[in-house]
Amino acid sequence: MMMMSSKEFFNNLPPKECAKCGDHIEEMADCYSHKCEDCEGEIH
Ligand SMILES: [Zn+2]
Repeated sequence: MMMMSSKEFFNNLPPKECAKCGDHIEEMADCYSHKCEDCEGEIH
């Protein structure tokens, strides 16, 4: 499908994935991190 509405386009966008393990990240107020809580915990 070449034609895709903007609505469908955004729906196809992954919400957020951890840059390390690729796990889904819950939406948070602050988008400072690209890692899940588990990976963040390992760093900090
Ligand atoms: Zn992770």
